[in-house]
Amino acid sequence: MKIAVVGGTHGNEFTGVEVCKALEKSQQSYKNEYRTFIANPMAHLKKLRYVDSDLNRAYSKTSSPLGNEKERSDFLKAEIIGKFDFLIDLHTTTSNMGSTLILTDTNPKTLNAACFIKQNFPHYKLIFAASGDDPYYTTNLTKAGLTVEVGPIANNIVKASLVLDNLDIVRALLNYDFQTEFNYAEFEVYSEIDKISYPEKEGYYIHPDLEGKDFEILKTGDPIFIDACKNTINFEYAGHELVYPMFINEAAYLEKNIAFEICEKIKLSEVLGS
Ligand SMILES: [Zn+2]
Repeated sequence: MKIAVVGGTHGNEFTGVEVCKALEKSQQSYKNEYRTFIANPMAHLKKLRYVDSDLNRAYSKTSSPLGNEKERSDFLKAEIIGKFDFLIDLHTTTSNMGSTLILTDTNPKTLNAACFIKQNFPHYKLIFAASGDDPYYTTNLTKAGLTVEVGPIANNIVKASLVLDNLDIVRALLNYDFQTEFNYAEFEVYSEIDKISYPEKEGYYIHPDLEGKDFEILKTGDPIFIDACKNTINFEYAGHELVYPMFINEAAYLEKNIAFEICEKIKLSEVLGS
């Protein structure tokens, strides 16, 4: 297996860049071959998520990345597509998500690798976010792969705990035998349902009862937004009485007016066919 380890897809998320540097410095050998990529050096230098457009949305047939990210996505496509079997894309979040793995495809190598990490590093949560028929994520440069998303951490800073946590699972995956099979029915995954926008009326914030409560149960009627006059808006989502929120107050989602995302908890076996 050949594995691409990608850090700095978002330039202001420093953890993955540090992980790539640490791997390069150690020169250790593993069962699987690998190469590290600092995906967006210009954005990293400028301490920005991106310079012209989001590099982690650049890879679908209908994506139209701009300027710097057009250049970087062309480079990464040329270097990675057809040359690697698996990709690990390292991200951080300002939300109180803890350590998570995001699966964006249902390739057995992706599912097995996720189960392997969950079994050996149980504090990791699994998230399924299918990217549809025309996938655009960095992980979609290879047939199988995982996005690592850890937080909370502010943009442009480094926490040793997160670097070490990520290094542990990256090294484990570099030594992993991708043939190992798992019973997917034994693993739980938070499956993305939708993104929840801020109210159209200005001046609403995430309700204090919801702040920092990523992956805690959110029910119909629970308060989700509040304004300075303490007017509240309660949760309501057709067809779902009970959900699990994530990416609450994620800094990068503000430009898209997204307040948080909602998931349902299902068995990993249930994502097959989706
Ligand atoms: Zn990111």
